[in-house]
Amino acid sequence: MTSRATDPADLVPLSPEALSLGRAFAQAGHELHLVGGPVRDALLGRPSDDLDFTTDARPEQVLEIVGPLASATWTTGIEFGTVGAQVQGLRCEITTYRADRYDRESRNPEVEYGTSLEDDLRRRDFTMNAMAVSATGDRVFTDPFGGLADLARGVLRTPSTPQESFADDPLRMLRAARFVSTLGVTLAPDVDAALHEMADQLSRITAERVQVELSKLLLGAAPRRGLEVLVDAGLADVVLPELPALRMAADEHGQHKDVYAHTLQVLDQAIDLEDDGPDLVLRWAALLHDIGKPATRRFVAGGRVTFHHHEVEGARLARKRLKALRYPGALIDDVAQLVFLHLRFYGYRSSQWTDSAVRRYVVDAGPLLPRLHKLVRSDCTTRNKRKAAALAAAYDALERRIAELRTQEELDAIRPDLDGNEIMTILGIPPGPLVGQAYRHLLALRMEHGPLGHERAVSELQAWYAANA
Ligand code: ATP
Ligand code: MG
Repeated sequence: MTSRATDPADLVPLSPEALSLGRAFAQAGHELHLVGGPVRDALLGRPSDDLDFTTDARPEQVLEIVGPLASATWTTGIEFGTVGAQVQGLRCEITTYRADRYDRESRNPEVEYGTSLEDDLRRRDFTMNAMAVSATGDRVFTDPFGGLADLARGVLRTPSTPQESFADDPLRMLRAARFVSTLGVTLAPDVDAALHEMADQLSRITAERVQVELSKLLLGAAPRRGLEVLVDAGLADVVLPELPALRMAADEHGQHKDVYAHTLQVLDQAIDLEDDGPDLVLRWAALLHDIGKPATRRFVAGGRVTFHHHEVEGARLARKRLKALRYPGALIDDVAQLVFLHLRFYGYRSSQWTDSAVRRYVVDAGPLLPRLHKLVRSDCTTRNKRKAAALAAAYDALERRIAELRTQEELDAIRPDLDGNEIMTILGIPPGPLVGQAYRHLLALRMEHGPLGHERAVSELQAWYAANA
């Protein structure tokens, strides 16, 4: 018996919306292919949120064809040949075949339309992103550069030589590190070599494009591996120099460990504590929490090393870096505040905190408190099990005190149903100790039964007065 090889196209399901788009393009005499990320993700058995298509139709024609099918269209990317469309539940981006020419100087690619699918695929970043499935009825799988085999082996390769590809658009180097994090793939040796060779060309790329890729890298399943690619290849020297700067030589007594290795471990540990999906703010804070250390390191008598106020310097540097990467102000504030607060807990351990110190911790963290808990708990990478357990126990104790204070404060906020003035009016008595006694009686009832309501409070008060006055 012979078994028929599975057609890869069968592994890439096309939704009814995609098929109706395909029919509309076919009727207009054009091609339409699902391409790039969604094809790759379908072959990996992963969902993708939005669908990328490529077509020989020009953007104006695309708008005409999709108009009747789409509930909305957008043209923010039209200068790059991309039309966006919402087709029922589906978000689509439809891009005209490209044959980019790059002047190798400018900070964004120049757009030139192409005429064939294969040329369009050739200019894509990696072979696993250069596969297409036609949506015009026939479902033809196109994979001119062996992307499927590379995907199966988990290897990132470029359609042309990596040197040519990265010279055309240096952002692809950062995307390589991103896919290492998000897809768990490894770099083909020639890709790795080209990254080392050409890393400094990343400086030609706009901060906005860098930010998008760094965020996706950090939000991936294995950010540590992506970051290691960045640092090893020298890409981090261009976009995040604070990270490689953490590779400080241990001092001669070996008393502090490599802050870089510590940082990556803290990031892993923080990720393990996430409870609501990948958290960009927490991940950035973990990555940057010690970036103030190199600038504050002092060697003191007895071979000791100190990093006084590294949290202050760290918050400042975090702000500066994230601003340079054009992150929104709210994210910058949150990350900087977490970096600033990450050390305060150590003061809690060495001296018992007063209630007001605990309250200040809670107030300063504000809505960041759950993340601060995760960051501080992650910031322990000692191999000494006793030390680690002591630290965790101390933090448990702090969290308990925060909870106790909260409960106490909620109790303190409870008032009886009637205030002193009302008591005096209802009973027709002047100020005096009796008012206080009546007040405490109503408070006790309120604690025991919850809110009494005005009417019942008045009759309880009158009954108490009759019995006690
Ligand atoms: P995801 O959308 O899951 O983040 P993706 O692979 O779809 O991943 P996008 O940034 O959406 O990534 O890009 C869509 C497709 O466009 C890619 O799959 C790739 O084929 C191509 N592409 C994107 N950026 C580049 C680039 N800088 N150079 C060449 N091709 C690119
Ligand atoms: Mg995509």
